[in-house]
Formats: sequence, structure tokens, C-alpha cells
Amino acid sequence: MKTKATLILLVLWPPLAAFLPAAEKVDLLVSGGIVLTMDAERRVLEDGAVAVAGDRIVAVGPAAALALRYRAGRTIDARGKIVMPGLINTHNHAPMVLLRGVADDLALMDWLQKFIFPAEARNVTREFVQWGTALACAEMIRTGTTTYADMYYFEDQVAEETARSGMRGVLGETILEFPVPDNQTWQEALTYTEKFIRRWKGNPLVIPAVAPHAPYTNSEKSLKACKSLADRYGVPLIIHVSETRDEVKKILEKYGTTSTRWLDQIGILGPSVLFAHGVWLTEEDLAIVKRRGVGLAHNPESNMKLASGTAPVIRILALGIPLGLGTDGAASNNNLDMFEAMDFAAKLHKLVAMDPAVLPAASVVEMATIGGARALGMDKEIGSLEPGKRADIILVDPESVGGQPMFNVYSQLVYVLKGANVLTSIINGKVVMRDRQLVTLDERRILQKAGEYQKRIADSLK
Ligand SMILES: [Zn+2]
Repeated sequence: MKTKATLILLVLWPPLAAFLPAAEKVDLLVSGGIVLTMDAERRVLEDGAVAVAGDRIVAVGPAAALALRYRAGRTIDARGKIVMPGLINTHNHAPMVLLRGVADDLALMDWLQKFIFPAEARNVTREFVQWGTALACAEMIRTGTTTYADMYYFEDQVAEETARSGMRGVLGETILEFPVPDNQTWQEALTYTEKFIRRWKGNPLVIPAVAPHAPYTNSEKSLKACKSLADRYGVPLIIHVSETRDEVKKILEKYGTTSTRWLDQIGILGPSVLFAHGVWLTEEDLAIVKRRGVGLAHNPESNMKLASGTAPVIRILALGIPLGLGTDGAASNNNLDMFEAMDFAAKLHKLVAMDPAVLPAASVVEMATIGGARALGMDKEIGSLEPGKRADIILVDPESVGGQPMFNVYSQLVYVLKGANVLTSIINGKVVMRDRQLVTLDERRILQKAGEYQKRIADSLK
């Protein structure tokens, strides 16, 4: 109350400032909102503020106290808004937004072989990846994602567009054993990846990764080469594991065991590994995942839409395995809205468990923020609003007909609010969207290109 009184006096009589201890200078002060810290105590500050200097958060606390302590180059008034860590999408194939809706409601193999693979073979070029990534980044920024993990082709172009948009990305070129649009063999893809790592390692926004596709598409030889490359440069390894029953069957026939046990036997697993999906992980697989410190990316919407199955999320959380949330590529979702992913995750697991008490809203928000950061091995840098962490902050606006009244901020975020309620986004200390206006991307031009690609892709499938 003392600070509040001083603040009122200061407004009424500015010369008072001369008698106060000199305020510390910061670049940005986000002030006056409901601050959801997602720190270890899960503090929620009713009238809070976040101070940012450069790319880092320097303080999180009561708005009145921070207003006295800091003199900000720029202040964002967050009154009535939810101020929270940016969302982390732990599994994506960003450029696939251009294939959004190209074919739906089909069995996985028909969908892949009759539509996705031919559409990719005929259309995926460096330019396709450039515009696809720009469209994806625009959508992710608009819907509150500040960090995403990705694997696709021409990943160097994905990285360029990601950095240009101001987003943070953990990015890896997909390594496959058949010719893809930019590499003919897995050895070529591996060489590409090494060059890619050398180019981006140390970049504040792009974290290069090694991304072999899956245990059923990669051989022991290529997987071992991927792992040794990842270890040599100290970068993450991203791989699809146990996504479908078909995979489980194939791996059992080929190696007489599960994907996870096989990957463990050949020495691929460790704390810098991220599994996408993990739908069919057995109890023994989960014990291995836990022991090796592997992180998981849960993609409820993609798993539902492709009828892949339901990941054992309640068991995963009970075991304390790092678990993040993802959208997967837009062709199997069909959007990159993490708010929708949160809503689906919460409801899917309640239904499957036939228990509305499992996976409460707060646990889902954890999954989309600090949980995702842990899964990516980045929880020292992102995932919560705490001094010393990167300034990845979003402002969500609940002040609308569909957003009020609000009794519980976690419930509102998971069950009520949508990506469209994200108002402002700050990544690495830079404002990339202000009052729903994108700062870094030319949205009109991106939409025009998306329209051109729609025609081109439809024609290519005739
Ligand atoms: Zn995927």
C-alpha cells in the first residue's frame, strides 16, 4: 500500500521523483495485468508487471512496486489482460500450412499416399517453404505461440523465415531414406544438417536440431549417424515415435520389439531427445523414456483427426516425464492454434479416462508453457515469467462477450479463450504483434501468396 500511495503522490506531484532513489532503466514494462508466472510456485499476480531489459526478463512483481523501481523506455498497459509466458508448440511442420485442407477425412495411408506425398513431390520448393513458413509464423504469432519445434524440408529457409518473423524455433531438416524435395539420400540430408547446425548454432532465435523422421523410415545406420551428429554439436534430436498401430506392427516384425526399446538398444536415447506423439508407448517404454530423460510432444488434435490413438498422457504426467503440447503440421489438424490444442487435450483425456477430474486446466496450461520448455530442454531459458529468462510474453484479452465472466484464469485459457484473443506478443524482448497488428510480417502479401499456392497445388493434383 505504501508504494501505491507513493505512486499516487508521484502522479499528483511529479517533482517528488527527485527525492526517491533513482529508478533503474529498462526497455519495456508490461504493467497492470493478471500475471500468470508459471514459475515453481505458480504465482498469479492480480495487478502485476513484468520488466524487460534487452532480451531478458529482469523483474516480475506487483505493478506499483515495479513502476517505482523502473523507468521504462516503453510501457504496455496490460490492465484487464492476462500476461503469461508465450505458448510453446513442441511439434510442427510449419510449411504444411499451405496443404491445410488439401484432403481430409481419409485413412492415414490414403491421405499420405494419394494426397500429401504427391502434393509435396510436385510443389515443395524453397519458395514454397519460404511462404509456407511465413504463413505459419503469422498464424502462430497471432495465436500466442512464441517458440515452436519443427521438421520439414529446406529447413534452412524455415530458419530464415522464423528469424525474420522474430519467432523462436527448434528446427531440424527431416532426414529420410528416400529422395525428398531437397535431398536425394539420408547422407545428403545429414551433410545438409551439419551445415545447417554450423550456420545457426548460437543464434538467439533459431536452435538447430537433428531430425530423423521415425524408427520405421530410418535405419539403424542413419539413426546412429544422426545421434552422433547431435552429440557432436550438442543440439537436440527430434523424431516421431510410436505414432500409429501400423508403426508398432512394422517395428515388431522387423526388430521383435517396440520402437522405444529398439532406439534404446541402438543407443539413440538421452535427455536431448524429443519424441513426437508417443501414442502407443507401453509401460516398459515409458520407464525407458523416464530413465533416459527423453521429452515428449503430445498432439491431441492430429492423433484424433488421423485416428492414430490416444497417448497415455495421464501416466506420462504421473511419471514426471517432460511433456509438451503440439499441433503437428496443419494438414492434420488443420490449424496451429495452441489454445485449441489445450482445449482438445483437456477434454480428450477426460473422455478416454471417463473421469472429468483428470488433466485439470492448470496442468494443460503447464503442458503448453513450462512443460513444453522442459520437453525441449529449454526450461532454463523459456516457459515461465521469471527474472533471467528470455522475454517471451503474451497478452491475452478476456474482455469480450465470449470471454466474460472470468472466475479462474486457467479455466478461461483452456476452455474459453481462443488464439484470436491474443492481443500482443513479445518474443526475445521484441514486440512482434501489438494490438493484433503484426509488426514483423507483411500479412497481405502472405495471404496473396497462400491463394496462389492453393490454385497451384489443386492443379498439380488433377
Ligand atoms: Zn509430425
